[in-house]
Amino acid sequence: RDHLLEVHSLKKYFNIKKDVTIKSVDDISISIRRGETFGLVGESGSGKSTLGKTIVGLQNPTAGEIIYNGQNVTQLDGQAKKDVNKEMQIIFQDPQASLNPRMRVGDIIAEGIDAYKLFKGKERTARIYELLERVGLRPEHAKRFPHEFSGGQRQRIGIARALAVEPKFIVADEPISALDVSIQAQVINLMEELKESEGLTYLFIAHDLGMVKHISDRIGVMYLGKMMELSNSDDMFTNPLHPYTQALLSAIPKANPRAAKRERIVLLGDPPSPTAPPSGCRFRTRCPHAMEICALQEPQWKEVEDEHWTACHLY
Ligand code: SF4
Ligand code: MG
Repeated sequence: RDHLLEVHSLKKYFNIKKDVTIKSVDDISISIRRGETFGLVGESGSGKSTLGKTIVGLQNPTAGEIIYNGQNVTQLDGQAKKDVNKEMQIIFQDPQASLNPRMRVGDIIAEGIDAYKLFKGKERTARIYELLERVGLRPEHAKRFPHEFSGGQRQRIGIARALAVEPKFIVADEPISALDVSIQAQVINLMEELKESEGLTYLFIAHDLGMVKHISDRIGVMYLGKMMELSNSDDMFTNPLHPYTQALLSAIPKANPRAAKRERIVLLGDPPSPTAPPSGCRFRTRCPHAMEICALQEPQWKEVEDEHWTACHLY
């Protein structure tokens, strides 16, 4: 089986008031291959975190299916659901907010170990020490509190906590966005090492394409709850099809100025309110190529080139 995870027509809607619904994830289908890093990119409000949280079971989907390792997770309950949830862990954006300030680091890391009753006593302690070392920290850090650590170290603690239950699939929800640029590469390197040593598969969420370029095998681009484009990482950068992706790419400063020259595309206006997305193509109010049909008909999600998908009436 090639795919570790398949998401079919997934929807996650929030009713925020009577008659006001936010379609945070609106009919998304993606598959993630065993051992790959799938980069998921979008502005804030695009629904990328909601998609990640729904996949790992922190939220129930409004509709659609999540197939993990051949099992329909959306239909599981009891022990079977617990077993699957244990294999899927999440690392959060803000290690400050996601670590309980009143708990010692060792107990934070052991949250999953305790919840699933994996180890007790000396074995539990040994496991905590091993996890600390695996993420580049030291056993004596176990008895300290989160505030005694730097941002980068706190993210290492968050990673150790996720690893404690030996997951196979990790959603990393903007794991480096809150960190100093100088620390970002260290955390990325650690995640890549762990991916190899632990045999992990990642859904790596970020708000810009530059952040996921080097680590992703494939990339998906979201806008207002919809997937706009999906392809392997190289194609996304050399041959972006969707006008939104083209605009995002044009905003990345070029590391190599002689690389293909691309004019900066400035998007019109602000993102529309997610409570009232435009008719037809949700990107049309900001799209430099918008046509009449774009307001009338939602573009279909289709494979325009080999394994290169997009939803746009230009294709
Ligand atoms: Fe632009 Fe139309 Fe394509 Fe939407 S469908 S991205 S509005 S050209
Ligand atoms: Mg987010």
